Amino acid sequence: MDTAKTNTPRERKLKGKVVIDIQKCKGCELCTIACKENALALSETLNSKGYRYIISNNDLCTGCINCALVCPDAVITVYRTDGKKKKIEIPQSELKDEKNIISSILEEIK
Ligand code: SF4
Ligand code: SF4
Repeated sequence: MDTAKTNTPRERKLKGKVVIDIQKCKGCELCTIACKENALALSETLNSKGYRYIISNNDLCTGCINCALVCPDAVITVYRTDGKKKKIEIPQSELKDEKNIISSILEEIK
């Protein structure tokens, strides 16, 4: 049996998008150590405080939030998506039911 690994990117159901407040990052690299996907790296340039800051490769991010959990300055925000956009059709009859339920709740809290 051939067990050789390939370099084909793994298919991921969950995807993430990391947003970093680069002016508050001090380049401690705790987040790069915590990221198992190697999605984070130090910049070549400096921020306004004179630190190299973190840049992300969101194509590799799975949204695991490890980086945000270890960041001592809470400068990382992680957004998760399921990687696919799905269109959901809601039948008119259900929409009417929803409207009725919302109306009755509004009546109750008047
Ligand atoms: S959310 Fe997870 S995969 Fe994405 S950059 Fe942070 S540690 Fe890496
Ligand atoms: S853990 Fe936070 S402060 Fe440290 S390098 Fe990463 S983003 Fe910057």
